[in-house]
Amino acid sequence: MTVGRIPGPDTPERNPQAPDTPGPDAAGFLYDTHVHTAEVSGCARIPARQVVRLYRDAGYTGIVVTDHLTRGTLERLGGAAMPGGASPNRGAAMPGGASPSGRAPSSESAPWQGAIERYLSGYEIAREEGARVGLVVLPGLEMTFDDPEPYGDYLVFGLAPEMLRAHPDLFRLGLRGLRRFLGELAASGRGAPAPGDILIYQAHPFRTGNHPADPALLDGVEIRNGNPRHDSDNRRAEAFAARHGLRRLSGSDFHQLDDLAQGGMRLPERVTDMAGFVRLLRENRAVPLLAAAAAATPAVPADRDRKPVASDP
Ligand SMILES: [Zn+2]
Ligand SMILES: [Zn+2]
Repeated sequence: MTVGRIPGPDTPERNPQAPDTPGPDAAGFLYDTHVHTAEVSGCARIPARQVVRLYRDAGYTGIVVTDHLTRGTLERLGGAAMPGGASPNRGAAMPGGASPSGRAPSSESAPWQGAIERYLSGYEIAREEGARVGLVVLPGLEMTFDDPEPYGDYLVFGLAPEMLRAHPDLFRLGLRGLRRFLGELAASGRGAPAPGDILIYQAHPFRTGNHPADPALLDGVEIRNGNPRHDSDNRRAEAFAARHGLRRLSGSDFHQLDDLAQGGMRLPERVTDMAGFVRLLRENRAVPLLAAAAAATPAVPADRDRKPVASDP
């Protein structure tokens, strides 16, 4: 027996779960829908591998990695300004039918491709670790548009990594433009995602500085955002969802240890791919958690990764 040793999140053994920690057999399978990795999101503090172990130890079946996908993120990751200019009005001016870059992404400069690979690395690292330790890891994203009028952050489920590689600059389009682009993509056939294969939820629409989007452009709304450093006014978000008949989503908005297991969805099946996850959301067969899921967070050293984050969008 080891005495006086506090298991940290990086220790390989599993922490014992409190009896009332929700597990797979409580009433479905628990998935967090809103999780950031330090490799990609500048405001996140915990590297992907550690995130995966923390969630496994908290009794979750899976997580969706939703790193921030913005011009600023890609410029930071790519180490260069991105084509398309920083004009805040560019996104609104995209002609229908054009690719967001205006031409094939391959003809654009290399920074896009390097940056999008780095962007995807948070998910890729998490997925590999998940396969190792037993946590389903799915690819999502949290997009902020160049011209966010009104300001909002959007969780997108069902945009495959290959689609991001082909279209790394969808944040230029604006919400309405992204909807139009996805509609045109679906109409083009050729194995393109059909309407309903990609779902767009507005994250924390009533957080200070955010504004709810046109409900007609949304599949759903985050009605519980678990981030304790923001007042997301979740009750207003829930009322907004009810008023407009929008699907409801719960997620932790995980950036650091305090955020662990503060939200999520309970699914009736153990899905292992994004198509299955989207199907359950679309069919309203996932139940949003309205409170923190974890009865006890895993013991962690108190001196690490607990700095409050000033800028934590
Ligand atoms: Zn977030
Ligand atoms: Zn953030």
